[in-house]
Order: sequence, then C-alpha cells, then structure tokens
Amino acid sequence: MTIDGFQPMTLLDWPNKVGCTVFLKGCNFRCPFCHNAPLVEWEGKQPAPALALEKFQDFLTRRQGLLDGVCVSGGEPLLQPHLPQLLETIKTLGFLVKVDTNGSFPQRLQELWKLGLVDYVAMDIKNSPARYGETAGVPGLDLAPIRESVSWLLEGQVDYEFRTTVVRQFHDAASFDAIGPWIAGAKRYYLQTYTARDTVLRPGLTPWDQEAMEGFAAQMRPYVGHVEVR
Ligand code: SF4
Repeated sequence: MTIDGFQPMTLLDWPNKVGCTVFLKGCNFRCPFCHNAPLVEWEGKQPAPALALEKFQDFLTRRQGLLDGVCVSGGEPLLQPHLPQLLETIKTLGFLVKVDTNGSFPQRLQELWKLGLVDYVAMDIKNSPARYGETAGVPGLDLAPIRESVSWLLEGQVDYEFRTTVVRQFHDAASFDAIGPWIAGAKRYYLQTYTARDTVLRPGLTPWDQEAMEGFAAQMRPYVGHVEVR
C-alpha cells in the first residue's frame, strides 16, 4: 500500500492536536469544489505515490512523542481495502487516528471504530438534503448511508466533528435552515470558506464573504455546541 499524498504537519485539522495527514486516492463523490481532483479522478492516470508505507512508518517512528496523531484523508479513505492495516500500523506506533469521511460507508466506519482503530471522525455535511446530490456531484445520490453516519456520530461513541465547505453557488441561508435541525445536538460544526485552487474539480466557483459566513454560523449555533468558521 502507498500513501498518495502527505502533509508532514497539520495544526488546523484536529482540535488541540498536532498531526500529519495522509491522503489516499479514490472517491465515490465528485464535489465540484473538491481540492483534490488528482486524487479523486485518478483512474487511468495512476498518481505517483507520495510515500511508500515503509517510509511512512520510518517517519512516524521518528515523530513519536512529537506528533499526537495521523489524519487519514482522501479522496474517501473508507474506500481503501487496505485501510485497516494502515490504521493498525499507525496505532501500533502509538498515534491517534482521525478519519476524514464523506459519510458514505457507515458500516465500515463503525467496524474500524469497534476494532479500536479510530479516535476522531471528521464528516462532511455537503449541504441540505434537498441539494446534497448536486453538491456531491452525484445526482440522485441515496442519502440513507449519509443519514446513518450522522445518526451514529450523534450517539457520541467516538469523538467527531461535522463540517461543510461553503460555496456561493451551492449554499445559502436555506442550506443551514435544513442542516441545523438535521445535526441538532452535535458537538462541533465547522464552516469552511471555499478557496479556489488549481487542483479544484470545477473552476469558476466562488466563496461567500466573512460576513455571510458568520451569518451562516449564527444560524447553526442554536443546534450545535461549538460552531466555528475556519
Ligand atoms: S471533497 Fe471529499 S467527498 Fe468530495 S470529491 Fe473531494 S474527496 Fe470526495
């Protein structure tokens, strides 16, 4: 197994933790605002591995006591058949594991948690149910697995956050009118301001300004313990 993208240190992705991030290729969604187009649309053009597993193990061994954990991101990491082995490697070396997911695979996520391989989950809430498929780039998307992931995380067995990348072309006040009641009782919710990059799937999208983002955050505060724009 290889690591398809690697960030040796991240402070922002995990509350009060210092970690590194690994990116694994492949995703079942095609969010137009996705920043990781080379990892998502890799079929037929195998991306060069960023790091072999052995080198990643060496890296972690040298960071014991310096980093708290590893953020496993993508793409959608739960698509990877070898994910359990990767997480076991990370846990064996004494690091916490954060999994970033789009919520499509609730059973796989729960199985990994039951094995003691997941300490924190960051799940995307792409949009209101009414605009979910459009925002995920999958028209007609079946929301049942997404709803199941949300319900399981709300039970609070594993520490978690929900987050939405907010894009002017997809999100407005009506989005948060619907998302708020859906995730009511959640611990943490982050609104991420969209930033245009060269690697985005669909160029030409634009962010909301800070004032609008704070307005959306205010809509969410009656429903969620901690709401933040980042
Ligand atoms: S933003 Fe996440 S869920 Fe959407 S296409 Fe990119 S990797 Fe997949």
